[in-house]
Amino acid sequence: MKVFGILLILALVTTAFAAFHARGPEAPEIKRMTTTVRTIPKNGPIYSRSAHEITPLSPERIAELAKGLTAEEARILLRKGTEPAFCGNLLDNKKQGVYHCRLCALPLFSSHAKFNSGTGWPSFFQPVDVDHVRYYKDESHGMRRVEIVCARCDGHLGHVFDDGPRPTGLRYCLNSASLQFVEEGDEPPQMGLPVKTKVAYFGGGCFWGVEDRFQQVPGVVDAISGYMGGHVEKPTYKQVCAGNTGHAEVVKVVYDPARVTYRQLLESFFRFHDATQLNRQGPDIGEQYRSVIFTADDAEIDAVKQLIHELQASGKGRYARPIVTQILPAATSGPGRFWEAEEYHQDYHARQGGACPMPPED
Ligand SMILES: [Zn+2]
Repeated sequence: MKVFGILLILALVTTAFAAFHARGPEAPEIKRMTTTVRTIPKNGPIYSRSAHEITPLSPERIAELAKGLTAEEARILLRKGTEPAFCGNLLDNKKQGVYHCRLCALPLFSSHAKFNSGTGWPSFFQPVDVDHVRYYKDESHGMRRVEIVCARCDGHLGHVFDDGPRPTGLRYCLNSASLQFVEEGDEPPQMGLPVKTKVAYFGGGCFWGVEDRFQQVPGVVDAISGYMGGHVEKPTYKQVCAGNTGHAEVVKVVYDPARVTYRQLLESFFRFHDATQLNRQGPDIGEQYRSVIFTADDAEIDAVKQLIHELQASGKGRYARPIVTQILPAATSGPGRFWEAEEYHQDYHARQGGACPMPPED
């Protein structure tokens, strides 16, 4: 029964986690069960779904941050200690707010997911962002448990068990000393804030491939497949494929402008697809596969026109032919706005393997 329980936890907590969860010293069981659901840039910052930078910190940076810990906090966070039950200062905290990592300030748990487990340690049924916690198998002290650590600084937080309340059925059992509480309305520490992002929209044929490629561009926080520029509300893939809704398959790119510029995204976009093909990309034929950029303002329009002018003037490779990319204003409401595609289209190549072919380099 106990073994079954552990396996159940492993299955629950590993199914939905990203590729970077498979890195590090996880147990073979966890590694095997971890599925890659998100493409992570090979070199460049890693972001969570909530736009926090979670690139693993260097040992030097961790040592520097650790200077701010008390001896008890260091024992727990750095050397996997456990505080005595019913002794932590956050056990009975009923205030609304967010519990951040005591070492690196990454937000980890919300008061909305806190419950009274009766165990003597602060307990939560889910993290604020699945990307912010990592899981290791722990067989110390003659027990088989699943340890939880901060995804960014690897600081020890506690353990997770499968006897929690709904909706997850999980109990994240925390040490108060591993956490710092920031009450609602108070400003979190600088390292606890998400990056300020911008959004851009690109249609370049099948969105599976375009999404996967953008996801690998350093500075891209998230790439999401969807439909844009049509005249039907809430379009489905079936409707868009039938080709009469006017939508294009489009990727919404959420990016960190401090790390990558709009111009660099444009340059990537023109490498990822062949902008000289009208209403098609290779074998994919139809208006929904048209080359299109939806712009937010005049600066973006100018940047697109400038790059198209440069590529066309070069006349190299495929640019001996005219670029047919449409430039249209990005609607923020109505049927022409961006509609997120069905869940099974998201992170398609990361989950299913394979990749759409790139057009030849110029
Ligand atoms: Zn941390």
